[in-house]
Amino acid sequence: MEENLESIPVRMGERRPEIPGSARMLCRIFRGGPRIQRGKTMNDKTLKAILLLLAFVLLFRGSAFPAAAEAKVPSPEEFFGFRVGADFHLIDYGQALLYWRELEKSSKRIKLFDYGKSSLGKTMVFAAVSSEENIAGLENIKEITRRLSLVRGLSEEEALKLAAEGKAIVWIDGGLHATEVAPAQHIIQLTHDLLSEETPKFKKIRDEVIAMLALPNPDGMDMVAGWYKKNLGTPYETSPLPWLYQRYIGHDNNRDSFMLSVPETRNLNQVLHHEWRPHIFYNQHQESPFPTLIFVPPDCEPTNPNLHPLLLRWQNFIGSAMAMDFEAEGKQGVISRFLFDTWYPGYVTQVCDFHNIISTFSETFLFNYATPQFYQARDFPEEYKDFTSSMFFTNPWRGGWWHLRDAVEYCLTASKSVLDLAAKHREELLYAKYAMGKETMERYSKEPPFGWIIPREQRDSGVAAELIDNLIALDIEVYKSLAAFRADGIDYPEGTYILPTSQPFGRFLKTLFEVQAYPDLRVYPSLWQSIVEPIKLKIPPLQTYDVLGWTLPLQMGIKTTALNAPAEVKTERIRAAGWPEKKIRGQGSYAFAVPSGSNDCLRAANRLLKSGKEVHWARSRFQSGGTAFQPGTLIVPFDGISEAELEKTARGLLLDVQRIDRPSGLKSARLSKPRIGLYQPWTESIEEGWTELILENHEFDYSTLHNAEIKAGELDRRFDVLILPSQSPRSLLDGHAKGTMPPDYLGGIGTAGAANLKHFAEEGGTLVAMGAACDFAIEEYRLPVRNVLKSLKPEEFFASGLLVGAVFDPDNPVAFGMPEEAAAFFADSPTFEVLPSFGEGGIPAVAARYAEENLVLSGWMVGENYLRNKAAAVVVPFGKGKIILLGFNVQHRGQTKATFKLLFNSILSSVIKD
Ligand SMILES: [Zn+2]
Repeated sequence: MEENLESIPVRMGERRPEIPGSARMLCRIFRGGPRIQRGKTMNDKTLKAILLLLAFVLLFRGSAFPAAAEAKVPSPEEFFGFRVGADFHLIDYGQALLYWRELEKSSKRIKLFDYGKSSLGKTMVFAAVSSEENIAGLENIKEITRRLSLVRGLSEEEALKLAAEGKAIVWIDGGLHATEVAPAQHIIQLTHDLLSEETPKFKKIRDEVIAMLALPNPDGMDMVAGWYKKNLGTPYETSPLPWLYQRYIGHDNNRDSFMLSVPETRNLNQVLHHEWRPHIFYNQHQESPFPTLIFVPPDCEPTNPNLHPLLLRWQNFIGSAMAMDFEAEGKQGVISRFLFDTWYPGYVTQVCDFHNIISTFSETFLFNYATPQFYQARDFPEEYKDFTSSMFFTNPWRGGWWHLRDAVEYCLTASKSVLDLAAKHREELLYAKYAMGKETMERYSKEPPFGWIIPREQRDSGVAAELIDNLIALDIEVYKSLAAFRADGIDYPEGTYILPTSQPFGRFLKTLFEVQAYPDLRVYPSLWQSIVEPIKLKIPPLQTYDVLGWTLPLQMGIKTTALNAPAEVKTERIRAAGWPEKKIRGQGSYAFAVPSGSNDCLRAANRLLKSGKEVHWARSRFQSGGTAFQPGTLIVPFDGISEAELEKTARGLLLDVQRIDRPSGLKSARLSKPRIGLYQPWTESIEEGWTELILENHEFDYSTLHNAEIKAGELDRRFDVLILPSQSPRSLLDGHAKGTMPPDYLGGIGTAGAANLKHFAEEGGTLVAMGAACDFAIEEYRLPVRNVLKSLKPEEFFASGLLVGAVFDPDNPVAFGMPEEAAAFFADSPTFEVLPSFGEGGIPAVAARYAEENLVLSGWMVGENYLRNKAAAVVVPFGKGKIILLGFNVQHRGQTKATFKLLFNSILSSVIKD
């Protein structure tokens, strides 16, 4: 769960090893993929005879007879033709799956489960490994876990009994971040070892534990192995993949766990939080900063205050047990209470924690494919050079060769340690799940917040329904009132949505819905510095690993109310939002009007434009039939569409359509289907990926443009609008440096590309720059706009991911349909001041500003005065066209549905003429 290399405080060594000639030869032999060998042991006559004899004995001894040694399963070496983690060899997902299937044929201790399709259509599979008896009784084991997890209807006595009866379920995965290759490779070896080891330790593990072993990013595992094989033996052997290793979201695949935006996350959510509910969830990564060799819990500060204290203690216990096993095996470089914290709840581990599944995670060293590297102590960062040991880094590494197999061995030690701990503490683990759920329910039946209310009156019902459906998918209990009621002095009608905190996973609801109060770590030195006389720091604020504030209803623009007293009303639990759809109303004779407040309104526009219907965009307010309509309302004349056609087009969208008369004095523009170009750099841009996803989800068609097409020009003939997702000016212009990548992926758009984009806007096109790309447009095209945060020091201004208030101009097309105020996701985003200008195109128009009052809505920042009232989104006239600067992240991880419209409106504004 780490950022790209640039943000890691220490860098890996850069030295490349001398690769012996014979090893190079090996690379060539295996370039076309490994030779697959079938296990031969099943034909062994002697073994067959032994098995027959054992079966005979079992028949007479019954189940009291100890588990027999199984038929030998094929080893990875036998199957793949090389050892897991061998230099220059990566096993891809397809090959791993073939091996798993072979194991399933040869052993009753393993069962494979399909759990859905990946984004690119691969079948996602996990392997359950345990004793033969446990594998045969999985349904009963799952049922015990389900009852302990859901708490209701279970006394403490019954819970203790079930805990004694059940088995521990431990999920271990590798390869979520596909470029971190060792964890995925180790899963293959671990499957084999768990099946075949016959020591008392492993027998006990099989008797007490169900291991769920998973490779959760099939597409990425194949992409990375394929890219490495292609470049093996060339100067680009360790060059980074030029595109995202998971469709749309790449590295953010570990930050999508409460939003469920892609199939992989949804599939995993279904397995973990509806079907299996493991006791331990272990998520393996591989980016421990050089020269540490593995990070294991305890985590560092800040700690998310909603995590159950018992769960945090279990995490520390598991991490300490892992560290102890590393020391016992003489494995150096193990570090804890370092870099990684529990603050952000979007990781797959934290979403497990909030379901009372004790998560653990580790970061092993080295992620550069299967090419070994040699590290010398003289290349270590200064603070590591003299190998000083400390309480959470007891045995520093001293450098040397580091092979993929070394990383695999570290992963194996850690996984086996977790399984061993689960076997030894099975009953306590099972009971802890129940105890945490029960304590949460009791606590929040007595103290606030007692829950949240989601009122039926919302500006965007479609997004409100999405929020509720998402919570239900996350196994949060959602209720609907069966009568009108009063709570905290407010009257609510029947059918109001109520979400009580007193539920087994109530802490999850609380962390998603409440306002985050991020602790300024400088204020609590004695709690985290762990030295005799902690130092009061006069330094810039201390960074968390991820963002500081995320309050989900704010990001989605949904009104909610916290309950300070329990709501007294009869309710029913619901399994889907079932938001009531509105019928077309009004008596007008001219057109259908679709109000502009919802995201679905823009989906409707796309559907209508694609089917060639006449659609107008209201550019001013108007009244009809007693209703006031805002700018951005869609007007669809009766001439071009029947009511039945409109209903068909709007199916599944929550719209409030009205029949209107021809409005007098209305300013409007006819829309055409916008021709959209989206720039995709060769630097695996997550921002670009998220942009693709939200465009597709809202039914915008777009073309992807690479450097070559931007450099080729003629853009004004092909497109109405070009989008530059957030990217630093340097990276946009220069891309990968010469010699670091195969020639096809070198460089950025360059000066030729920048000139072509300028020409495109001058000739009437709309260029949309998002986030850091705004700096590119401002600097490259000398726009009369200044980024006011550019030269500030971190102690003057610190805002690395929070929600701030923004004020919108609903008469500016970019902000059509926006409320006057909404939350904006801000992370060191370019912030503007419009400079006096005498250009012929007119002065820039501000579509959104940061609030003057109540600026910080959730999270924390330093230097609010630099932001107050400054421009956040600006439309700059440019020749015959325009450049739109969207400073803050309008699409942050697919969560900020309240501000998606700024991008969508920017696109539509490209096809209207003043
Ligand atoms: Zn990772």
